[in-house]
This record gives sequence, structure tokens and C-alpha cells, in this order.
Amino acid sequence: MLSNYFTVGNNSASLCSSYICRMELRSKLIQDAVDQMSSLPGIGKKTALRLVLNLLRREEKDVRKFTSAFLQLKEQIKECTICHNLSDSTTCSICSSPGRNGSLVCIVEDIQDVLAIEGTHQFTGLYHVLGGIISPIDGIGPSDLHIDSLLGRLGKGEIKEVILALSTSMEGETTAFYLYRKMAAFDIQVSSIARGISHGDEIQYADELTLGRSITNRVPYENSLSR
Ligand SMILES: [Zn+2]
Repeated sequence: MLSNYFTVGNNSASLCSSYICRMELRSKLIQDAVDQMSSLPGIGKKTALRLVLNLLRREEKDVRKFTSAFLQLKEQIKECTICHNLSDSTTCSICSSPGRNGSLVCIVEDIQDVLAIEGTHQFTGLYHVLGGIISPIDGIGPSDLHIDSLLGRLGKGEIKEVILALSTSMEGETTAFYLYRKMAAFDIQVSSIARGISHGDEIQYADELTLGRSITNRVPYENSLSR
């Protein structure tokens, strides 16, 4: 029986797609594995089957290594007690790094934003991960986010500037304005990441909102020369 699945080999996509379409996988074990795999975002049934068959072809020790990595992740990952970034220890590597600028904090919605900004290698300050944005329609209010801990950090007086790096959606703007008002009680500079024309974009194809913001938030030409 197993050999049937192995012989599918590299041509699995064409053969298996018909199984998937008709939901006629002959093995409940494979079906269960496919169901689990396809429960991940962005993984359809066809891709899930390809991944499951790939795992099935590997040696048992490799599959154990694969699954134990996720179990260990789930059991041992921690949330940084300062910025709420995910971390292997109670204080993340960014917060504990002596090379980071502790007077500058970038506020983001989730850890993927941290990864994106870190990927630019342009930011040397610290972060504060809100864990979401205010969204009444989803039942998410300010008390559901890491706002109290942010205000607690600001209260220590070491932070001089905060950069709001939230999405441009209505919820993102609402959250930014809420934070702006809360942070007015502190002697800090509050800035927002620039919104504008993407690198390589042509002006005529930019939407009106983006183009309007680009003009409103224009910067001295010398600043663009230093990039
Ligand atoms: Zn941290």
C-alpha cells in the first residue's frame, strides 16, 4: 500500500490532485496528516499532500527532528517581558543588546513587523509589540493590547522618541491616534513612519492617498541623498 504512495514520487502533483479534488485519499493516516498541514495559512490541500509525501519519504529520525522542533518551540518560546517580542529567554536579544539605542522605541502591531524592520538593517532602536490593533468590530479594545506596559516603559524616562509604525488601515490609524493621546502625558517626541511612493514606483500610478501623503510628508532633498 505504502509503495503506491511512494511510486507517486515527483509526479505526485498531477496524480494526487485528482485524489484531492475528489477527497478520495485511500489512507486515513495520510488524510489526517494532509488535514493538519492544510490547516496552516496559505497551504492548500494539494500543497499539503506534497509536503506530507515529502515527509513520508524521509527517514524516521529526520521526521522526529522536524516534529520535535515545533514541540520545543511551542513549549519553550517566551514573550519578552519588556517589548513582547518572541524570545528564547525572558528578555529578547534586541532588548538585551548593548548596541541598541534605548532612547528610541518603534511601536508595531506584531512580531512580523519587527522582523520586517530588522530586515532593513536601518533601525537601531528598540521595539514595543502591541499584539494587535484596536478593532471594535473584532472586539479588540485598548485593554487587549500591550499598551499599559508601553506607558510603563515611557514612565521610566529613558525613552526620548517613539516611532509609530502601524498599518494605514482605519484600525491602524485609530490605534496610532489613541496612543498619541495617551503618550501626550510624557515628555517624548512622537513620530510616524513616512508613507509615500515606493522605491521604483512611477508617480502617475500611485493612488491619490499615497501621493497626497507623499507631498504632505515631503522631506528635505539632502535626506534622500543620504539613503
Ligand atoms: Zn524585547
